[in-house]
Amino acid sequence: MATPIGNLGDLSPRAQAVLGAVSRIAAEDTRTTSALLAHFGIRTPPGGLVALHDHNETRIAEGLIAELADGATLAVVSDAGTPLISDPGYALVRAARAAGRAVYTVPGPCAAIAALSVSGLPTDRFVFAGFLPAKSGARRAAFERIKAEPRTAIYYESTHRIEDSLDDLVAVLGSERRVCLARELTKRFEQSITLPAAELRTWQREDPNRGRGEFVLIVEGAPEAENDDRVDAEAERVLRLLLAELPASRAVRLAVEITGAARKPLYQLALKLAGDSDRDDNESA
Ligand code: SAM
Repeated sequence: MATPIGNLGDLSPRAQAVLGAVSRIAAEDTRTTSALLAHFGIRTPPGGLVALHDHNETRIAEGLIAELADGATLAVVSDAGTPLISDPGYALVRAARAAGRAVYTVPGPCAAIAALSVSGLPTDRFVFAGFLPAKSGARRAAFERIKAEPRTAIYYESTHRIEDSLDDLVAVLGSERRVCLARELTKRFEQSITLPAAELRTWQREDPNRGRGEFVLIVEGAPEAENDDRVDAEAERVLRLLLAELPASRAVRLAVEITGAARKPLYQLALKLAGDSDRDDNESA
């Protein structure tokens, strides 16, 4: 279940009720969760809080699930936001499902979605890519992978690396790609701004405070024209052969099957070739 990413007012009434009702709470850091529970006056049974983090999750998941067979109920929380989203919980949920246990969501804050919803960047299709790599080479490779990606891309980033990451982003994706930097969401110094990449890098450096806190970086998708809509030579050769014998839709379907090429650009090429051949026929008539 989700917990606040900064503003305690974001713990929903249902989340409070569930936290007060379950027999156990698996928490990323029991001290953080104890403070949250204390703030809301929520009591847990003795021994009710159990630490669940990346290093012990797989090992203790089975035991926790076995307890459920005896009528126990278990809530999973991380330090902030939605567990499992760049946070522990995956092995536990997987094990619960494998054991046939019911799993319910208590939704709430998630930094990635919160940032996306205020970014002003397209929200209809997006990829969440977790934390950017710590090393520049791997980070540049990560940006290379989204160079032609048409969907909006969402990353988490830490305080220490935000400047270097923006440098790498501009180096790989260029100055013009629009990027949103969202920091300290729901907190006192919340800030989010969307600018072309090079301008954002300059803006970020103008004030040292803009390098502090927790960040989400959102990168606009590549313009459709930059997408790799080209048809390679082999796919075009196959398509031309098939078009000579078959109607366009059938030729395209078979060409996709034979070459593994994407359907849309092949179909567009088929229409163009059909148009060209109509023109040729008219000209020679
Ligand atoms: N599970 C969490 C969620 O649902 O958002 C994310 C946990 S991940 C370990 C922590 C990262 O999330 C931070 O390094 C930062 O990139 C992002 N984050 C968390 N809280 C944030 C906030 N209030 N403002 C901006 N980014 C935040």
